[in-house]
Amino acid sequence: LFRSCARILLFIATRMKPSASTANGQEVPSSVVTKLTVLGATGSIGLNTLEIVRQFPHKFKIEALSCRSSIERLVEQIKEFQPRLVCVDNSEQARELRETFRDRNSGTETEFVWGVEGLIQISSDPEVDLVVAGIVGAAGLQPTFSAVQAGKTVAVANKEPLVMAGELFVQTANKTGAKLLPTDSEHNAIFQVLHGEPPERIARLILTASGGPFRDLPLKEFEKITLAEALSHPNWEMGQKISIDSATMMNKGLEIIEAHWLFNTPVENIDVLMQRESIIHSMVEFIDGSFLAQMGLPDMRVPIAYCLGWPERLPLKIPRLDPLSMSALHFEKIDPQRYPCLPLAIKVAKQGGAAPAVLNGANETVVTAFLGEEIRFVEIAETIAAVIKDFEKALHQVDVPSFLRKIRTLEDAEHADKWGR
Ligand code: NAD
Ligand code: MG
Repeated sequence: LFRSCARILLFIATRMKPSASTANGQEVPSSVVTKLTVLGATGSIGLNTLEIVRQFPHKFKIEALSCRSSIERLVEQIKEFQPRLVCVDNSEQARELRETFRDRNSGTETEFVWGVEGLIQISSDPEVDLVVAGIVGAAGLQPTFSAVQAGKTVAVANKEPLVMAGELFVQTANKTGAKLLPTDSEHNAIFQVLHGEPPERIARLILTASGGPFRDLPLKEFEKITLAEALSHPNWEMGQKISIDSATMMNKGLEIIEAHWLFNTPVENIDVLMQRESIIHSMVEFIDGSFLAQMGLPDMRVPIAYCLGWPERLPLKIPRLDPLSMSALHFEKIDPQRYPCLPLAIKVAKQGGAAPAVLNGANETVVTAFLGEEIRFVEIAETIAAVIKDFEKALHQVDVPSFLRKIRTLEDAEHADKWGR
């Protein structure tokens, strides 16, 4: 009898999931722990994500981290979060980190992988529940897509892959059961506001824009804009590429395309308004004339935490909005002369097909050139407009490649992006 009881107890013990302990010592079953991959862990989205994980150590476990630059920051993150997998840019970086962590004898058993293959591995790892897509630009296309193919919940901050291949992402998510959680602040606001209401009830989505650093600069001074001026956003602290996109308002153009796919809403029903305080993060006008908006201080931890905790809300410790401190909220029309990238992106959004991927490739190239101080600020919009003109001409040629007509595969998106570049 004793031996049978012991065997039964052993059986139960091996079947039970291990538990994690919380900061206040409570035991929490591991089934409630969400296992995360953070793509772009050393960037602005990545750092905000890790700050939330730090606040809720009993709810989240970091399984995998990735970055391309800021390796010192990554080393600190590995020591703190002890991920099982880490992906870096190249084999040399991976080898050095392996050495570092062997020498340190830190007790972590981290596997170091690299390159696109490594990113795909950590995005689709069977142990991972949720992938935070925080890489910047088209570089996030393959890893984000592999997370969707693997049926993961994906917190989509990295908007460029959706711009390039939105239809493919949505179709694939429908097949695999992957969930695309809108993490960009405007889209997260709409996600919170819609709360499952079907697209038929949406009359209009209104994306808000701060206007960036040049919202009041006289137009004749645009010729002299410096890189430092363009990088200093009045309301948000973000990575360099999105800061420039905000200054040109290409960011809002990309966000229209992103919203079109995430909320199954025609581009014609998506508007943009300037909201200089960045307190109203976006609004939905419903068919019955109701407007619902989401408000809060401009703090990316709110939308990221909403996605990490979804469908619950996390009791986030952050500075709160005091409505009494707001003397006014301003709404203004967007001036197309000040922000020529916005009407250009809207035209492209309406064209659909490969046009958004071409636009995105062109934009990334000219923004990189501006960041390298190779071109002037005003040349960003001029160059992209010229590329779109060429693209329209190419569409009328008899031998137009099929990837310029429609994006059917990930390779099509990559080819269209390259064409734009
Ligand atoms: P960032 O430049 O601060 O960070 C980018 C991260 O990706 C870094 O960890 C970097 O090492 C990594 N990375 C860069 N290039 C890479 C490559 N080729 N391969 C692999 N990894 C690479 O960028 P960010 O501001 O955090 O933005 C990330 C994404 O989130 C962008 O698509 C941006 O549009 C979107 N987003 C950002 C914010 C924000 O507040 N920062 C808000 C909304 C949306
Ligand atoms: Mg945004």
